[in-house]
Amino acid sequence: MNNVDSATPLHFIKAIIEKDLETQKYKGRVHTRFPPEPNGYLHIGHAKSICLNFGLAQEYNGLCNLRFDDTNPIKEEEEYVNSIQEDVKWLGFDWDDRLYYASDYFHQLYAYALQLIEKGKAYICDLSPDEMREYRGTLTEPGKNSPYRDRSVEENLDLFQRMKNGEFPDGTRVLRAKIDMNSSNLNMRDPVIYRILHASHHRTGDQWCIYPMYDFAHCFSDSIERITHSICTLEFEDHRPLYDWFLDAVGVYHPQQIEFARLNLSYTVMSKRKLNELVKLKLVDGWNDPRLPTIAGLRRRGYTPQAIQVFAERIGVAKSDSIVDIALLEYCLREDLNKVALRVMAVLDPVKLVIENYPEDGLEYVEAIDNPEDPDSSTRKLPFSRVLYIERDDFKEDPPHKYFRLAPGAEVRLKHAYYVTCTGYEKDEKTGEVVEIRCTYDPETRGGWSSDGRKVKGTLHWVSAAHAVNAEVRLLDRLFLVPNPDDVLEGGNFKDNLNPNSLKILEGCKLEPGMVDAKIGTSYQFLRNGYFTKDSKYSTNHKLVFNQTVPLRDSWAKIENAQKPDGK
Ligand code: ATP
Ligand code: MG
Repeated sequence: MNNVDSATPLHFIKAIIEKDLETQKYKGRVHTRFPPEPNGYLHIGHAKSICLNFGLAQEYNGLCNLRFDDTNPIKEEEEYVNSIQEDVKWLGFDWDDRLYYASDYFHQLYAYALQLIEKGKAYICDLSPDEMREYRGTLTEPGKNSPYRDRSVEENLDLFQRMKNGEFPDGTRVLRAKIDMNSSNLNMRDPVIYRILHASHHRTGDQWCIYPMYDFAHCFSDSIERITHSICTLEFEDHRPLYDWFLDAVGVYHPQQIEFARLNLSYTVMSKRKLNELVKLKLVDGWNDPRLPTIAGLRRRGYTPQAIQVFAERIGVAKSDSIVDIALLEYCLREDLNKVALRVMAVLDPVKLVIENYPEDGLEYVEAIDNPEDPDSSTRKLPFSRVLYIERDDFKEDPPHKYFRLAPGAEVRLKHAYYVTCTGYEKDEKTGEVVEIRCTYDPETRGGWSSDGRKVKGTLHWVSAAHAVNAEVRLLDRLFLVPNPDDVLEGGNFKDNLNPNSLKILEGCKLEPGMVDAKIGTSYQFLRNGYFTKDSKYSTNHKLVFNQTVPLRDSWAKIENAQKPDGK
């Protein structure tokens, strides 16, 4: 019946699906959908829902639709429709020819509304929004019936048609379901089904001036598409009775709504309203700012679809809300990049290292392994010459105890090249800054290993000064300073918790020559500095810009491993 991989855990939604398959509830079909509202870019929370819905369809030989929930003409834009499709595809999922829009169903939805009226299950209400709120009651007080509740079917049909024909201004009337003003569930207290809105819709233009509400449009859209399992987040649990009521009241095909806990991530915000605010106020560099949890931002930052899929699998599917540590997402990313990323030499804060006993115009090529994690790794040749760049931080005039990098008299390994011993350095007289370091190399240590068994503790990365390419490198830290950005002092808001140092731009970084051909969409491990990817927005033919994808968690442990002769 299905091709379930027994290795993947059976969470409660899979358990429901398997039972339904067993009982032939939907004749063996599994048909899910991902229903974004095109009012913003997708974020990592949506990715969880995408992986879940498309993933279940794949696992049970079913189908998954992409449906734009575009019932609100005010906030929706074509830009979002396009970005959402791009993001779902990039994550690795395919809706084939099943791309739908709730707005495609406006005529059908209108017909369903007419049926409800004809059955005496819906009425036109003329209460003002304020009055309606007052009549609604509260969690502890029952509501009151609207004085318009008992209008005749004929009058309701007439008014509804005139609403549709544009005879009334916005907000003057609504169509409501006639359910129960005493229900303990506020959603069941005669909810609004249609409202008047003289607004242009991104797809239907000015064809409509009444628009269906989310709860009404959603269940019928699922029904029209013959969805079997309509998976949504927990806040819709209290809407499920309404979902069921609408479908039963009209008497159409009835999918099963199932709720799961939304993903919350530490050190970030996920609500589209807040993300939109950051973008509109230019507190970030657009929806695809690499510090944002948007899929477009994660992509620009160098995240891989594989890492996101594995993350979605690992966090699982639960029935109660929790906050996932962003470190888990970063872990999944490192795990993936470690397997695939090319290791390159990149000096982010360069200072010159001159090898005094190396020929003035000498040049040789040393062999560098592309990825030591891959037993079949290819190698490449790096130019080595008399003048190199190393990290400023890798030299100390006055080294502290246990400092294994370069210092006067100290010997270190230049990765893939030679042992060098520091013989001196020069400083800028005015600033006191070290401007050049001098050393000698031991020609007997080619490849970075000594034949006499002499050991060095420090291994430095470097680039040949004459061959290096220049780049701007953007170091990225968390966008917020605290795990929960909504934790604010009274009167404050989440923006108070923005990290003012989340972006640090380094100019004049020096990369190994092959990086002129770096590809957008590929992350590289800059040895000892972390993973980086070419920025898709600011890189040009004349300028290389890199974003930090994620730091290496424990760069020193890696260096120490690299020093073992078998740790190449
Ligand atoms: P927001 O609350 O951020 O505005 P939303 O839920 O209104 O987001 P939709 O476009 O309606 O955004 O979401 C599309 C689908 O993605 C829905 O099925 C929704 O349940 C799911 N989804 C949204 N946010 C999350 C999240 N954080 N975790 C899991 N699923 C989510
Ligand atoms: Mg929503």
